[in-house]
This record gives sequence, C-alpha cells and structure tokens, in this order.
Amino acid sequence: MKTDKADILTLLRNSEDYVSGQQLCDRFGVTRTAVWKVINQLKEEGYQIESVSGKGYRLIEGPVDMLSESEIASRLQTEWAGRKLYYFASTGSTNTDAKRLGEEGEPHGTVVVADIQTAGKGRRGRSWQTLAGTALSFTLLLRPDFVPDKASMITLVMALSVAEAVEEITGAAAGIKWPNDIVMNRKKICGMLTEMTMTPEMDEIQYVVVGAGINVNNAAPEDFQEEVRPTATSLRIETGQQYNRAGLLNKVLLRFEENYAVFLETLDLSGLRERYQKHLLNMGAQVRVLDPAGEYTGTAEGIDMQGELIVVKDNGERTPVYAGEVSVRGLYGYV
Ligand code: ATP
Repeated sequence: MKTDKADILTLLRNSEDYVSGQQLCDRFGVTRTAVWKVINQLKEEGYQIESVSGKGYRLIEGPVDMLSESEIASRLQTEWAGRKLYYFASTGSTNTDAKRLGEEGEPHGTVVVADIQTAGKGRRGRSWQTLAGTALSFTLLLRPDFVPDKASMITLVMALSVAEAVEEITGAAAGIKWPNDIVMNRKKICGMLTEMTMTPEMDEIQYVVVGAGINVNNAAPEDFQEEVRPTATSLRIETGQQYNRAGLLNKVLLRFEENYAVFLETLDLSGLRERYQKHLLNMGAQVRVLDPAGEYTGTAEGIDMQGELIVVKDNGERTPVYAGEVSVRGLYGYV
C-alpha cells in the first residue's frame, strides 16, 4: 500500500490536469476502492486533493511542512541518488543508519532521511541539534571506486551542492565556511559529517556516508538551544518563508549528482573550484586555524585542487590546511 501511495502522489504531482480514477487503477493495477483509500489517506495527511466526478483527481496543494516517504519519493527527480530511500520519523543519527545499511550491502546512492535525530553527530564527537518538524537531516551512501585519499573531497562536493540548492530554492545568498558549513548572513544553516569505511585490507573504500543537517523551518532563534543560538540560523529565519524539506532534498541531490560527476572526471576539484570559491566566505579573509597542534592566524587564499584551504600565515608562510583535524574561524567570530 505504501508504494501505491507514493506512486499515486507522484502521478498527481506531475499531472497538470485531472487524473481519472480509472487511469490510476490501470496504471498501478489496483482497484477503485484501493485508489479511493489512498486518496483519503493523503487528504487526512493534509494534501488538498480536488475530486470532480467525471474528471478525476487533482492535487491542489500539499502541506508545506510535510516530510514522509511518499512526499520525498513524489518529489525526487534524480537519476541515482535517493532511488533507494529509507525514511524514519525519528532515529539516532542518519549517518549511523547509513553505515549499517552500508554494511548490509545497500547500493550506491541509498539515502536515509529522518524528521528527528535524537543523537545527531558533528565532526570530532560534537553533537548536532535537530528540532522536530523543522530540519532536513539526511545521509547519502556512496560506494566510490577511487582511492581513499580522495574521499575528503566528497564533503566539499556536498557543501557546494547544498549551497547551490539553498540559493536556488530561496533566492538568497548562501556561503560556505570551509570546508563544509553552509552559512547565511554569517550564521550556520547546515553542518555536515562525512565518514568512510575501508575494506578489511584497508586499501580500498568500502563505502562513504555523507550526512547533512539543514535548519529549514525553525521559526525563531529561540528554537535553537542556547549554546548554538549565537551562530545558528534557519532558511525561514533568514528569508521569512517556510520551505518543503522534501523539495529541498530533491534539489540538493540533483546538484550533488551533477557536481559529483564533474568531480569524478578528474578526481580533484579542478572542475568545481571556481564555483566553490565564489561561495567561500573565507576567501581573502583573516582566519584563525584551530589546529590541535597549535592555533595560528593568517589570510585564506582559497582552496587547492585537493580541497585544502590555502592559508598565508602571518609570518608569510603559505600552508595548505587539511580539513580532517581543524576548524577555521573568522578573526572576530564564527566566520
Ligand atoms: P565549526 O566547529 O566550525 O562549526 P564543524 O564542521 O567542526 O564546524 P560540525 O561538526 O559541522 O562543526 O557541527 C557541530 C557544531 O555545530 C556543534 O559543536 C555546534 O556548535 C553547532 N551546532 C549544533 N547543532 C546546530 C544547529 N542545528 N545549527 C547550527 N549549528 C549547530
């Protein structure tokens, strides 16, 4: 029944005109009663569906804050990303789920989406907060056949994809704080975590999971816990509008498919660097590099082809900064 629901919703969404009950029955090989039941379920979930006798059904509008398996499936226009989809109303961490699915042999492109993450993870053991009904939290499982030392660039490919999708959907500017925080008006709307698992021989990638948490419909700064409030914001706070998270996921995955294909051509960032740097807020800026081996300041000159941040230290020394271990801050604040 679940598949029928997603299929029927997809057909209604993609039809400009009425779809007759008979068309739906023929197309999905189900009875009139089954169609009627699904339509009623959709209406109960908040979809406005007009039914006109002699013509059929027409989707007028769906609930803007709806996130469900059918909603996502009906909006997905990708070729491979998200074609295998797992949706959880609540889970610990979508990255943890995706790694489990990676172990279980799920294919390249599998996506895990959750409305609530109760144990969302950031880099180096930090936590990521999600408020129910507001965030887009998802993880993409990849099975690359390139060598492990290229994997860190996937994070930058996803960062560019999220920034571009956010701009497309909101019409507002989204910047990147190297390597992978997405920022609007100097505050963070999205964090990411990429994790790699190697084959037992440790010479090949078994799979990579790249997860992102996007603050979409948080209504006010008070929606964030106190400790992140000064640096966190949402698409809604910045633009005054609510967005459909499944629609945003579709745009992010579409961009990722495109950008990942460009990345695969050269296995470096040469085809994406220009666009990435256009979004890079640290470009030409004074930065503080929080390196566990010792903090230092300098001027960021952009990224190299491997995605490292080129920093000219105050003593004139030019250093590529590798993302793995460090955080970068503006001299006087978060960016
Ligand atoms: P940075 O430390 O520079 O923010 P990072 O990549 O090291 O970047 P992440 O691992 O992406 O950080 O995210 C974890 C951090 O993000 C947390 O320590 C917290 O400060 C902040 N944070 C947690 N939840 C949210 C949220 N919903 N919105 C914005 N920021 C958040």
